[in-house]
Amino acid sequence: MNSSKRRQFLKKSLMLTSAGLVYGYLPAPAQADEESKAKLTPPPDLFDSQTLDIEFWVKPRILDLVRPSSGERVNLLYWKDGEVLDSAYQEVCHILRDVNGKKTAAIDPKLLETLWATQAFVARFGMTKPLEILSGYRTPESNQRLREEGIPAARKSLHLEGRAADIRIANLHEEVLGELIRSFRQGGVGFYYRPSARGGWIHTDTGLQRSWKG
Ligand SMILES: [Zn+2]
Repeated sequence: MNSSKRRQFLKKSLMLTSAGLVYGYLPAPAQADEESKAKLTPPPDLFDSQTLDIEFWVKPRILDLVRPSSGERVNLLYWKDGEVLDSAYQEVCHILRDVNGKKTAAIDPKLLETLWATQAFVARFGMTKPLEILSGYRTPESNQRLREEGIPAARKSLHLEGRAADIRIANLHEEVLGELIRSFRQGGVGFYYRPSARGGWIHTDTGLQRSWKG
């Protein structure tokens, strides 16, 4: 066999091996599932905000937020020419309030910037669903109750300071969402994967730059 023929043979063998046919067996169903799952999972670093240009950051900013627990939604211009617009800011703080404790607090504008930038970034790829707010500001009592119920909540959570939100976007893989937020380098990012039909969520805050899985 000359070297060219050998290369061809090796290539064919490898192709057959990867198809699972060379030893006369078909992939087991479990393997097939793993394979199709791998195909459905996009690479986590699909989106990288460091590729954004200045144009992105100076344009007027619209936030489209929904609160699944109360059914409320806001879709409004909240920032223009470097300024947060006051009445819009009040509305955004309201939708990010503690729904259970019925209390509104001032939300860190830096957090709003992260929420907006995340939404504006994915909108460029045709993902225009509202950003779901699962949790925004929390009163100490609400935070304590979550802890008692075994829901992940830190004792000194930044939710208590209006500096954190738990979010998701329909049809967007949590890992991709979390990695995108992480690429903004604006604070902490927690990845909470859950096997439920609705999936997990991403915690984003304006504290130290760090990330974790919970
Ligand atoms: Zn959180």
